[in-house]
Amino acid sequence: MRSCPYCGATLVFDRMEKIYTCNSCGAALNLQDIVEHKERIRAEKEKIQREKRKHEEYLEWWLSSKK
Ligand SMILES: [Zn+2]
Repeated sequence: MRSCPYCGATLVFDRMEKIYTCNSCGAALNLQDIVEHKERIRAEKEKIQREKRKHEEYLEWWLSSKK
């Protein structure tokens, strides 16, 4: 079961059109769209995590050097 990348609702597969549609927000996506969107979100999350870690490391360094 796939979920809508925009609102998280369950997508319904349209066999005729071969697309996934969202009953909640009305989005229509093909499989490629969904995969690409997921990949983009994953990359974005990773970037945020990396930035956060960098910030934490800096903060740690800053606090330990402050003594
Ligand atoms: Zn949706």
